[in-house]
Amino acid sequence: MNSIDLKSRAKINLSIDVLGKRDDGYHIVEMIMQTIDLYDNLKITKIEGDFIKIKSDSEDIPLNQDNIVYKAADILKKRFNIKDGVEISIQKNIPVAAGMAGGSSNAAAVLVGLNKVWNLGLSESELKEIGLQLGADVPFCITGGSALAQGIGEELTNIHGLSEGVNILVCKPDIFVSTKEVYQSLDMNKVQKRPENQKLIESLKNDDIKYVSENMVNVLEEVTASKYKEIKQIEATMMKNKALGSMMSGSGPTVFGLFDNKEYAIKAKEELLIDYNQVYLVNSSNKGVEIYG
Ligand code: ATP
Repeated sequence: MNSIDLKSRAKINLSIDVLGKRDDGYHIVEMIMQTIDLYDNLKITKIEGDFIKIKSDSEDIPLNQDNIVYKAADILKKRFNIKDGVEISIQKNIPVAAGMAGGSSNAAAVLVGLNKVWNLGLSESELKEIGLQLGADVPFCITGGSALAQGIGEELTNIHGLSEGVNILVCKPDIFVSTKEVYQSLDMNKVQKRPENQKLIESLKNDDIKYVSENMVNVLEEVTASKYKEIKQIEATMMKNKALGSMMSGSGPTVFGLFDNKEYAIKAKEELLIDYNQVYLVNSSNKGVEIYG
């Protein structure tokens, strides 16, 4: 196989709780992750020479060794002593530094893709183990769908998530949020509301989107929203247009809304596009990395 095309899907969080902090600085979390049908297209091609080359249409990501896809390819290359070169081309659709695991998802796609291109024969759980070295969200991005993530995000329990086709409106305001700073600024003593994950999981199982939408909680939201008024503004626009619920994803700044009526979602999208460039109406998905073509 000389080349492979992959879809690398974004995620949203339907909840985030922080339970504590490990000695190494990582936070212990409990969160519900859900993949959505917003994806980057990656093409991996064998090339002459013993190096990793990255191309992208995006000016927001590095094209050198700092790109997480470089790190993903490099880990496999070194571990399996591969002497072939590879070009990874990334067509970016997922907003960058958005709380949607764009980088983690690209890394996941590269692990899955190179496993095929280089004929490594790694199982999904072996790929996830390698993925964890690149980032806590990478294992989830490989399988996608919906999961309860515990530990530092790597302990995954598959759950029945949003059924395919729920309307999700995603809006990424043009502000930069540092995930590290958001976690550092979080004071759990000041958190007013925490998610009840077991109830959310039960409601997802019953396809009770209304309950899920009305009870989604992200404990990181207040941290980011206290610094940037855009978070609450976007939520207000979503709710004014009859979203069932709206919340910030990850550490932000992306805000999403769940809609049972597509017309309402289209209306909210038009209104958000007046103030924001990155607004996408997508569906929930039960897939992670997907090989196509
Ligand atoms: P998470 O939800 O996992 O915190 P995120 O959506 O907040 O992820 P990313 O889009 O992964 O954040 O980007 C975080 C940083 O990683 C950015 O500063 C970006 O420049 C860098 N980066 C490196 N490689 C990539 C990549 N392939 N795609 C996106 N960002 C990348």
